[in-house]
Amino acid sequence: MQQTKRILVTGGAGFLGSFLCERLLREKHEVICVDNFFTGRRSNISHLLDNRSFEIIRHDITFPLYVEVDEIYNLACPASPVHYQFDPVQTTKTSVHGAINMLGLAKRVGAKILQASTSEVYGDPEIHPQQESYLGRVNPIGPRSCYDEGKRCAETLFFDYWRQHKLQIKVARIFNTYGPRMRPDDGRVISNFIVQALQNKPITVYGSGQQTRSFCYVDDLIDGLMRLMGTQDEVTGPINLGNPAEFTMLELANLVVELTGSRSATKYLPLPADDPRQRQPDIAVAARELDWTPKVQLRAGLGKTIAYFEDLLSSDRSLAIA
Ligand code: NAD
Ligand code: UDP
Ligand code: UDP
Repeated sequence: MQQTKRILVTGGAGFLGSFLCERLLREKHEVICVDNFFTGRRSNISHLLDNRSFEIIRHDITFPLYVEVDEIYNLACPASPVHYQFDPVQTTKTSVHGAINMLGLAKRVGAKILQASTSEVYGDPEIHPQQESYLGRVNPIGPRSCYDEGKRCAETLFFDYWRQHKLQIKVARIFNTYGPRMRPDDGRVISNFIVQALQNKPITVYGSGQQTRSFCYVDDLIDGLMRLMGTQDEVTGPINLGNPAEFTMLELANLVVELTGSRSATKYLPLPADDPRQRQPDIAVAARELDWTPKVQLRAGLGKTIAYFEDLLSSDRSLAIA
């Protein structure tokens, strides 16, 4: 029988964090969810509140935190460009001061710690698909930099704590992930397109729509994170986690319109500054080290996500969380 652990999930009330808390509780662990509710919502975790192994702390990780845990998943950080650019200084602080505090905590209690890093560390990449060895092409002074450089600095801190203090670290570079519990006002492309399609409003394609992304369904991603946490100490990452199936934004728009049976037209808006043109993970390392490959195809994952938003938009709950 596997041993029950006490596990801290920062950003646990967010999209990915709430699914992670759920999965860890299902595996009979004790979970402490820490969140400042900037983009996270109580409704994401309300169904877990009756579980005696679940605890929530409202806390901003840019400030020190003292708890006793065996493992830490550090997910706290707004992930949508709209939200992370709302208060860019706080975004950098969350990644940098947040990482320092969580690493300090891990050091004090001897916990294993996983960082939710991102494909954004590769910036607007010159090589395709992106392998972990690629050092990236990131603008240090643009509107996306608070997120990209914050996450890069967090990776630096993780590897320095590993070299200097011998911490057990795990760094996951997460590629675009989607699924139920994204906010209708999240601002990322999948939730925008689905909400627009369901309301028969114009689908907002930025730029020509020829830029690509590779979309991973949330269940696959959470499985990858947990496998990474379970690896031997020698496996530190960084490891890409994502679904290599690559689509243009126009292909995505057409698929969402088809699956929703929408009457929406397409509306072209300017491409945001520094928007990466192409993105696709090379997941050979994850396949080898974690025996992990994503299982859910875009069509199937979109179906589940559309069902979630249909239900949300047809109830009063969307008004409460919009
Ligand atoms: P999200 O915005 O839904 O979740 C982030 C959570 O962190 C929210 O609950 C928010 O309230 C909380 N938070 C933000 N700042 C905080 C702070 N200072 N202190 C405490 N809590 C704070 O986003 P998500 O998609 O669930 O992303 C989770 C993590 O995964 C983030 O670190 C993100 O950078 C990373 N990631 C996500 C994706 C993706 O496609 N979803 C891709 C790459 C990386
Ligand atoms: N820290 C924390 N919780 C702990 C231990 C440390 O939040 O249980 C914070 C602490 O406030 C410090 C940071 O983590 O600012 C880094 O800690 P570390 O021990 O690495 O550095 P130092 O305390 O020497 O600055
Ligand atoms: N995008 C779009 N319409 C939208 C939202 C986003 O065309 O309503 C584009 C955006 O310009 C980018 C891609 O979709 O090229 C993915 O954007 P998202 O914000 O989801 O993720 P990220 O850019 O961080 O990968």
